[in-house]
Amino acid sequence: MTMTKWVYGFGGGSADGDASMKNLLGGKGANLAEMSSLGLPVPPGFTITTEVCTAYYENGQAYPADLESQVEAALGKVEGIVGKAFGDKSNPLLVSVRSGARASMPGMMDTVLNLGLNDETVEGLAGLSGDRRFAFDSYRRFITMYSNVVLGVGHDAFEEVLDETKDRLGVSQDTELAAADWERVVGRYKQVVLDETGAEFPQDPKAQLWGAVSAVFASWMNDRAKFYRRMHDIPESWGTAVNVQSMVFGNMGDTSATGVAFTRNPSTGEAKLYGEFLINAQGEDVVAGIRTPQALTKAGREEMGETKPSMEEAMPEVFAQFRDTVGRLERHYRDMQDIEFTVEQGRLWMLQTRNGKRTAKSALKIAVELASEGLIDREEAIQRVEPQALDQLLHPTLDPKAPRTVIAKGLPASPGAATGKIVFDSDEAERLGQLGEAVILVREETSPEDIHGMHAARGIVTARGGMTSHAAVVARGMGRPCVSGAGGVHIDDKAGQFTASGQTFKAGQIITIDGSTGDVIEGKVAMIEPELTGDFQTLMAWADAARRLKVRANAETPLDASTARGFGAEGIGLCRTEHMFFDDTRIAAVREMILADDEAGRRAALAKIEPFQKADFVELFKIMAGLPVTIRLLDPPLHEFLPHNEEDVKAVAAATGLDADKLMSRAKALHETNPMLGHRGCRLGVAYPEIYEMQVRAIIEAALEVKAETGEAPLPEIMHPLVAKGQEMKFLRELTDRVAEAVFADRGDRLDYMVGTMIELPRAALRADDLAEYAEFFSFGTNDLTQTTFGISRDDSGRFLQAYLDKGIFEHDPFVRLDPEGVGDLIKIAAERGRKVRPNVKLGICGEHGGDPSSIAFCEGAGLDYVSCSPYRVPIARLAAAQAALSARSGTEREKDR
Ligand code: ADP
Ligand code: MG
Ligand code: MG
Repeated sequence: MTMTKWVYGFGGGSADGDASMKNLLGGKGANLAEMSSLGLPVPPGFTITTEVCTAYYENGQAYPADLESQVEAALGKVEGIVGKAFGDKSNPLLVSVRSGARASMPGMMDTVLNLGLNDETVEGLAGLSGDRRFAFDSYRRFITMYSNVVLGVGHDAFEEVLDETKDRLGVSQDTELAAADWERVVGRYKQVVLDETGAEFPQDPKAQLWGAVSAVFASWMNDRAKFYRRMHDIPESWGTAVNVQSMVFGNMGDTSATGVAFTRNPSTGEAKLYGEFLINAQGEDVVAGIRTPQALTKAGREEMGETKPSMEEAMPEVFAQFRDTVGRLERHYRDMQDIEFTVEQGRLWMLQTRNGKRTAKSALKIAVELASEGLIDREEAIQRVEPQALDQLLHPTLDPKAPRTVIAKGLPASPGAATGKIVFDSDEAERLGQLGEAVILVREETSPEDIHGMHAARGIVTARGGMTSHAAVVARGMGRPCVSGAGGVHIDDKAGQFTASGQTFKAGQIITIDGSTGDVIEGKVAMIEPELTGDFQTLMAWADAARRLKVRANAETPLDASTARGFGAEGIGLCRTEHMFFDDTRIAAVREMILADDEAGRRAALAKIEPFQKADFVELFKIMAGLPVTIRLLDPPLHEFLPHNEEDVKAVAAATGLDADKLMSRAKALHETNPMLGHRGCRLGVAYPEIYEMQVRAIIEAALEVKAETGEAPLPEIMHPLVAKGQEMKFLRELTDRVAEAVFADRGDRLDYMVGTMIELPRAALRADDLAEYAEFFSFGTNDLTQTTFGISRDDSGRFLQAYLDKGIFEHDPFVRLDPEGVGDLIKIAAERGRKVRPNVKLGICGEHGGDPSSIAFCEGAGLDYVSCSPYRVPIARLAAAQAALSARSGTEREKDR
């Protein structure tokens, strides 16, 4: 019988695991193992695998039988390496208990430090270190963290005791408390625990250890972890690992410190060591923003205009060692590293490394520069930038020339600009965000409980905290602009206001923030369009060279079309003509057409619309010169163009001279129980061919006109929506060709055009061979195809979709990420059957999914010719298409290797 290995040790120059074992050991555990094997100074410890977490939840929160003995053995090894014993009165080993999932979830789960302390071992620690103050400082930290994480006692009660003590002593800094003060604080903390939980603070180190391990596993299912997973698409089934690691102490006086570092600037990507540290402190202090940390490097300090010495200046020798070590780590991992470290009495210890989170700007710069440095190749550089993140760069920024009244300055924690209403509370931010309001979340500092508020906000301001504070890290990850540590912002939560520069700002008032400069600004500031040059252009050029899929845009207005072209769109994949009908200048004629009693009346009204339509197309064809333009003929049911209630009817009647009674009765007559499945799409063209005839004529005439004017023939692709049957397609194809030929004859000129259909019904996909007899292209309208495949209305799905996601029935919202199984199968079937009849049938996708990277990967796999998405997503799609092509290629190479 083979035993499952549940526990992997590391430290003392070797490790059971390595960096490739992230799935089993979690990111933190795998990298601690790797760093140990590299011979870097890592406090020894062990990792309890993610499989234990999974088993724990599968077995009603019970551990595998042999886990305890494996933990005992691993703990024994650690004791051997450090020469201390867990629970020993005179020579106690203390450990940290840290969570660590596969994908890093910073600050999402809880860590307990200094575990193993009790009333006896604290004396041992005092003796060993010769520093009583340090021993009791560590003990009080432990009681706070353990009580909070394991026993569920809030921080407040402890903070009250501490504040009271400091007030009594007349001091403001924790570091000013002496040994006896801390000893007294510890006594009172234990009383707090007894009062709050009804039980003594646990004194048995083994019980403490298992309490903390269970708390880490439990934290995998807490609300903020769930929210984070949902936001980042991390499956629940992955589980977290637990790392138990011998403690090193950054709080042993002025030769001790703790800090965080990035090997390159995570905001700008600049290739300079970047970070913050605190002397005489323990890990959490830096991230929690309790004290404002100092810069790591001299240059960093000068840039921030700080006076307190940098680590480079305060501890030059350890700093030199640190700089070497992190350089080595970056070369080893071939990526920018995010590092946590501690200096204990002049000795460096590495506590964590991982590929650092970064802004889009910095991701681009780092990828391009790593490629030029030869650390990675171009293909890898393409894979290094998350397509979604480009979104951050594609939106307007503050106009540098516009006047701004800066009311406070903080750190440029996450770039980008945002304007919105002041909100002080995360729940309120979420509520207003859901109503579509732009809000700026203003907080003293943020904690993981604020995630939903940060997500809902356009931007974040904190009064406290550094560049690596929770707010800064999370905002960068989310792509929200953030100004942190704006000390000039004085928040009065109770009054619902803050003061800055002597002015009072109330909740609901508008402010603007510039996350690239750290400015907090009164009111609104003019924005300018982004310039996409430099690293962006370089990487996009590499991506374009690597991709197979073409990228088009969904656009109907000239503005959208030019934006799309500027972003590199290779044509229009969907131009919806109904938007053109809603225009104020045309809606009257459209209504007249709907009210007409016979074909002749309809034709008369359509004749009024035709010149407008033609002019629209002329403009689009010019903007998209040389590129294909897919135009979808009228799609929505006609009643959408009519006023619905009496009041509107009266207003329309008055304004247009149309008959109010007739309007009302026509609206009633056209009323449909289920408009999505009603008289719409090509069913309009079949029932009222004159509508589609007008549109085809407008398209062809516009194309001929542009050809005559510019000498270059546009490439119109005329698309019939909602086709289900071959017979429908036959009718529509004949209609289209007949009208086109008539125009050609009339004008004495001709050009190439294509006729195709949007595939948005399961029947159309299944009978694609019938359609391909007449259709030269298929465009998968995956919004509607998803609706009709699932039988779910997108507009109503909000009411129950969350329940499906919560229960794991849906992993993703199928309207955001293409369902690769059901809808995907239909696409594959349609592609295959269509190609059987017409081998060169052109295939594309034009739903919302066309801009979603994972859906784009599906399209690559299905062998489609192009994806089409909203203009602002075009660069995202270009990059995602390149990544999909590269993954597909390396996938095939792997196949061949087998
Ligand atoms: P997170 O995943 O939230 O960063 P960590 O498990 O990394 O949580 O722990 C938080 C902080 O605690 C770390 O930044 C580190 O400074 C400190 N820490 C963790 N383990 C130890 C240890 N064994 N010795 C000293 N400090 C530690
Ligand atoms: Mg950490
Ligand atoms: Mg549709």
